[in-house]
Amino acid sequence: MNETSLKKALSKINISGLRYFDSIGSTNDEALAWAASGAKDFSLVIADEQTRGRGRLHRTWHTPKGSALAVSLILRPDEIIKPHLSRTVGLMSVSITDALLTMGLALKIKWPNDVLINNKKIAGILVESVWSGSDVDSLVIGMGINVYKNSVPPDDSVKFPATSIEDELDKEPPAREEILREILSAFVAWREKLASNELIKTWEERLAFRHWQVQITSGDEISQTGVLDGLEDDGSLRLSDDNSNPVIVRFGDVSLRPAA
Ligand code: ATP
Repeated sequence: MNETSLKKALSKINISGLRYFDSIGSTNDEALAWAASGAKDFSLVIADEQTRGRGRLHRTWHTPKGSALAVSLILRPDEIIKPHLSRTVGLMSVSITDALLTMGLALKIKWPNDVLINNKKIAGILVESVWSGSDVDSLVIGMGINVYKNSVPPDDSVKFPATSIEDELDKEPPAREEILREILSAFVAWREKLASNELIKTWEERLAFRHWQVQITSGDEISQTGVLDGLEDDGSLRLSDDNSNPVIVRFGDVSLRPAA
């Protein structure tokens, strides 16, 4: 993967700008700085390696050289998108799963921000924003996708099992540029439907552990348990507690696990 091969693969997608790096600290950091200095809607930062890739709350996201997709997409939300910003993480997870489902993989979305194959993590999404006073000026949607086997972090460094597309396909995966092209094509189509029930319904149908007894942890504490029912209109998670009463779990530093 290099700048030329990326530009060629993405030539039919209307991207406004591309910054490619052989190695970078974090694509989201670069994208946030670019957004703050005027990047146009649908600009991309892509790197072959991240040396300080980030998950939520500055947890580490592992991106060794030549192994993965590390991409940050900059959006400038208009008045139609702004009321639905909380759906953005779903918009990207549905787009990633759309692209990978065509390879026949058993994909699920682990709310709020991960994509699983066979219940192991292959992708994480990190949405961050640039504010202008109380108004959102731009959004950065970062994604890390484990494509080749060497992208997978060592077992003892992750709290949730990880895998790669290559491990699960058991054959050579498509080139990273092609995978990205499919994700972005899906994203362009779903973005038009950000406000629709169809997006929430598709996101909900693909949820990992749906109808299972699950637990929500916050820090090291279990903050909630219940059966995973589905999603609210804003993308929050809905559980049923032991008395079958609905419990809404809002976005935040929460992690979902099947109950022990
Ligand atoms: P969890 O999946 O445990 O609920 P999270 O979604 O809260 O975690 P994120 O902040 O989204 O965590 O992702 C960072 C975590 O993902 C890291 O702490 C590490 O455990 C794990 N991780 C880091 N790099 C990778 C990778 N390339 N593939 C899979 N998992 C990774």
